[in-house]
Amino acid sequence: MSKRILVTGAGGFIGHHLVKHLTSQGYWVRGVDLKRPEYEPTTAHDFQLLDLRRWDNCLQATAGIDEVYALAAEMGGIGFIESNKAVIVRDSTMINMHTIEAARVNGASRFLFTSSACVYPGYRQRDTNATPLKEEDAYPADAEDGYGWEKLYMERTCRHYREDFGLETRVARFHNIFGPLGTYDGGREKSPAAICRKLALVEDGGTIEVWGDGLQTRSYCYVADCVEAIFRLMNSDFPHPLNVGQDRLISINELVDMVAKIAGKKVHRTHDLTAPQGVRGRNSDNSKLREVLKWEPQVSLEEGIARTYEFICTQLEAAGRLPARDFARA
Ligand code: NAD
Repeated sequence: MSKRILVTGAGGFIGHHLVKHLTSQGYWVRGVDLKRPEYEPTTAHDFQLLDLRRWDNCLQATAGIDEVYALAAEMGGIGFIESNKAVIVRDSTMINMHTIEAARVNGASRFLFTSSACVYPGYRQRDTNATPLKEEDAYPADAEDGYGWEKLYMERTCRHYREDFGLETRVARFHNIFGPLGTYDGGREKSPAAICRKLALVEDGGTIEVWGDGLQTRSYCYVADCVEAIFRLMNSDFPHPLNVGQDRLISINELVDMVAKIAGKKVHRTHDLTAPQGVRGRNSDNSKLREVLKWEPQVSLEEGIARTYEFICTQLEAAGRLPARDFARA
């Protein structure tokens, strides 16, 4: 019989893409979330609207399941995570502890936890040159306040469950995942989507606001690569935390220039130096990813951003916030 897979957070950005990938591979998938996917219907065989902070709901979600991909979380861009620490820590701790324990009680064999590059210490991320972060750099610990500490604690919980209970746990540390079908407005969006939205809405020659001086650096990974990576990680024998990201470093200003080029617009920037910016520089060291997964992310930043920009323009047109393009004349 084929494996029965649970994806939590299946109404969210990465969870929805993961469900599509797994069902296209022929797996039976149950999706669970507080909400359905926003932009298109789920392909899950069974989709349950459940609050996973609750123990009884976690037991229901994991019943009859072989493998759990745990993606449900209180989540957002830097503006959200810097101003909602108690909510993030409370809700994600309840979701994760109840989900992993219910998976164990119900006899699941594997559990993949989606951690974050926010577990890496602040003292290694003070420079825009951003020495790529290796997995072992997470200690001595000084994680992102709130969100990062909860992720780091849950990574250790996964190790304890593997060592003491024999549950095969896997841990993926995501570095800025982006792509179509992600949140692009409303306060939880992350930098690539926010910049695409601003470029879509500004007129040619206009001005957009950038958070910080724009010299802060990041790496960005396209969502299809992220999904492929966690599928490979789940099916590997590697039980330790693994970076899942791209290793191309780019500043926010360079990202704005890239989106402007894709949009075919020339824009000016103003910089809000009081806005939340996160760490100064962060990049992923992908040596272990290549060794463990025998693979590395394939989609270039230009290609991924172009697809994301197109998705956001289409959404803005449908919402009446952008005039519909005249494809007949284009
Ligand atoms: P997302 O916000 O789109 O998805 C998370 C989903 O969890 C949402 O649909 C939300 O409704 C659901 N959820 C929240 N509380 C719930 C509850 N009580 N019960 C059931 N469902 C609940 O975020 P995403 O970008 O798809 O992230 C997925 C995972 O990857 C999260 O664990 C996140 O922390 C992690 N991650 C993402 C990134 C990134 O760049 N997107 C980076 C690092 C880590």
